[in-house]
Amino acid sequence: MARESRYSESVGDYLKTIFEASRHGPARSGDIAERMGLTRASVSGMLSRLAELGLIEHRPYKGATLTEAGTREALKLVRRHRVVETFMIRHLGYAWDEVHGEAEAIEHAIGERFTERLSAFLGHPEHDPHGDPIPTAAGVLPETPDELLTDVPPGGRFAVARLRSQDPSVLGYLASKGVEPGVTLEVVATEPGGGAMEVQLDNRRFALSERLAAVIRGRATPG
Ligand SMILES: [Zn+2]
Repeated sequence: MARESRYSESVGDYLKTIFEASRHGPARSGDIAERMGLTRASVSGMLSRLAELGLIEHRPYKGATLTEAGTREALKLVRRHRVVETFMIRHLGYAWDEVHGEAEAIEHAIGERFTERLSAFLGHPEHDPHGDPIPTAAGVLPETPDELLTDVPPGGRFAVARLRSQDPSVLGYLASKGVEPGVTLEVVATEPGGGAMEVQLDNRRFALSERLAAVIRGRATPG
């Protein structure tokens, strides 16, 4: 099958990882290695290659940032991934905590034409079911509220927009409690020092560990 990308699957996976890891400054090779489950040695070899291809800027001891060409390529793959996940959930009966692995494989097998037809079929969604923004075909990332639930004091309300985790056990647990993009949580109590908290959703109260609470992003709401 003809690939629409000039780059290998592995190059694409690095670019997406660097895209995620360089939100708050250059991505360090140790962080990239950890996210990809690779050794630092193999990561630094690939970073040199990506720099030669003009896809990243890489300064030893500082970290890697995507160039304009690298960003464009990363956003293209992120778009494919999130459009595919949205389709799997809305139309194929997958739960939203089950789609990530297969979408990782599919995004490399489909081209621009298929992606754009699929996006049109879905009505050009701006967010995927995790609440993650779907870059437009032109490579623009829609705005998404990204405040932390853990910053909300007891009595405060919080509109969930996004769950920042790809871990099926985390997503599955939150789904079982009804915590998903679009719902509003009320914070009942927090542990001193922050971290773990008790929340209410509709008429149910439950506890969230620090790790679970940290993935819930959105916007604090009045009232
Ligand atoms: Zn995913």
